[in-house]
Amino acid sequence: MQDENQDLVNKGEMLPLMEEFYTIQGEGFHKGTAAYFIRVGGCDVGCHWCDVKESWNADLHPPTAIDQIVENADKYSKTIVVTGGEPLTWNMNPLTQKLKEKGMQIHIETSGAYKLTGTWDWICLSPKKIKLPTPEVYKKADELKVIVYNKNDFKFAEEQAGKVGDNCILYLQPEWSKRDKMMPLIVDYVMQNPKWKVSLQTHKYLNIP
Ligand code: SF4
Repeated sequence: MQDENQDLVNKGEMLPLMEEFYTIQGEGFHKGTAAYFIRVGGCDVGCHWCDVKESWNADLHPPTAIDQIVENADKYSKTIVVTGGEPLTWNMNPLTQKLKEKGMQIHIETSGAYKLTGTWDWICLSPKKIKLPTPEVYKKADELKVIVYNKNDFKFAEEQAGKVGDNCILYLQPEWSKRDKMMPLIVDYVMQNPKWKVSLQTHKYLNIP
């Protein structure tokens, strides 16, 4: 990356853009809602089951001016989902400010591992054991989405649920490659612990991005 671009990326005036697309949100509280997804490159959390490992190396994704990102988004939707990668790798204040100036509803999907920047209408917090969220983001999360890869993740889910606010909606979502094995356990768990809800990656069943 050229130095001048790196400087702008560091300020959040440019972002390494992996992809952007208009689709249906498949997961969590807003599933079924049409939304424009902005997938930002860069993540060093390192989940071994990550399904977007191509996002990890930010240098592989072109530094893109946030004005361009906002202009593209504005052609499609007033509901924006910023995802990654880990979007909080970067300063999200400039991007979200410009999206807000266009009157958009802005959601983030984050592990919460880094400082919370940006103005958000909806925070989906998906904590990861290997790099836990910052204390600040727990209290601001609107939904907690714990990915269940194995049985130990139920204990982790309860620990995480103890840290979010009272109104935070709690979801258990099977890791995609383990869905057949884990889904019966999740169903039993949710019936016994109904403060939780099941979240599915419905977009993968629908074969849409
Ligand atoms: S935090 Fe998300 S993008 Fe990063 S490694 Fe984990 S699943 Fe992948």
